[in-house]
Amino acid sequence: MNRIYMDHSATTPVSERALNEMLPYFREEFGNPSAIYSYGQTGKNAIEKCRNRIAKCIGALPTEIYFTSGGTESDNWAIRSVCEMKKDKGKHIISTEIEHNAVKRTLQDLEQQGFEVTYLKPDQRGQISAEQLESAIRDDTILITVMLANNVVGTVLDIPALAAAARKRRILFHTDAVQAVAHIPVNVRKLGVDFLSISAHKFNGPKGVGVLFCRLPNRPKPLLTGGGQEKELRSGTENVPAIVGMTAALEEHMETLEEDITVLTEWGSYMTKKISEIPGVHPTGDQENRLPGFSSFLIEGIPHSVMLMNKLNEQNICVSSGSACSASSKEASHVITALGYDEQMATCSLRITLGMDNTKEEVDYAIGAVQSSINALRSEVKSKAPRLEGRVSEIQGQAK
Ligand code: PLP
Repeated sequence: MNRIYMDHSATTPVSERALNEMLPYFREEFGNPSAIYSYGQTGKNAIEKCRNRIAKCIGALPTEIYFTSGGTESDNWAIRSVCEMKKDKGKHIISTEIEHNAVKRTLQDLEQQGFEVTYLKPDQRGQISAEQLESAIRDDTILITVMLANNVVGTVLDIPALAAAARKRRILFHTDAVQAVAHIPVNVRKLGVDFLSISAHKFNGPKGVGVLFCRLPNRPKPLLTGGGQEKELRSGTENVPAIVGMTAALEEHMETLEEDITVLTEWGSYMTKKISEIPGVHPTGDQENRLPGFSSFLIEGIPHSVMLMNKLNEQNICVSSGSACSASSKEASHVITALGYDEQMATCSLRITLGMDNTKEEVDYAIGAVQSSINALRSEVKSKAPRLEGRVSEIQGQAK
């Protein structure tokens, strides 16, 4: 069996359509979009068309779309902009305990600068209620940032309800929609958010490019000064091929979104059901409101996820423990512990995220491989417990 890639929440391959749209902008149409001769103008026109095309995909206005280098930058830009602009009104921010590090570490940095953050604790499914949010709002709250879909357990949060609670109190609302865009319907008006972050490499676009949606009349603070690109807010020569590739990839997903959701939901539920039948394996996240094709588990009797990842890797199956950024970390994921599981239990988590490039045959093969790997590791752990301690560190050394 060839390599089976089932880690689509970490990243995805660039689609053929996206690549084909990108190619001319590397060589034939390489001009600087700020130049006035035709090469430049072709690039400039392509960017503005992309702004329109992306806006259409998410129900925004083109003037509300800013191109960035990806999800991390969009999260940073939105959060830091609001803090800078509203700091005279107050210094209180509300978020959750299950945000991606792009938000979590940004908030920690802001705490160092004197902002105060309330981290809402989700229920075991990963949901936050509007009532919970409302009771955390204070007169000095200036920003609420809650992710749309979680990258470790796949839960889709009720952002329309949470954003409505924020709007009632006239507080700006940001959502990290990196895992959601192109995988579930995302419309900024229906969500009711002021800021929304997007990353292209999660939906078969290139890496290093993304979008920050910023609802008018809000504008982010200038991020980079220089040549004045992106309405003077983010200077730097635009990455035209990447912007074009991201746009093509997003449109491609939008065209088949409904069918893809049906197929991936079916495969994901089947996978979750089959793997959960193994004794001591517990599905994590909200089983009703979740990303299509997203299965996540906690596995008893195996000391660390890395052991399972390696066992599956030997069988050419690429899956992860929850977050690409912390794949080699020994620590339990902050998301899993926030859901109420103890540290010990949280050390062996498994995330399998499917894409339309997978097949049903691969799904069945992976289920079998997970079952046999868990059984094999459990008996190894039982018979060689002391020796395995050393192996965990050894494996982790290799994984870095
Ligand atoms: N937010 C979430 C929920 C993510 O899953 C990721 C990527 O893993 C990011 C933000 C960061 O996006 P990027 O890799 O484009 O910086």
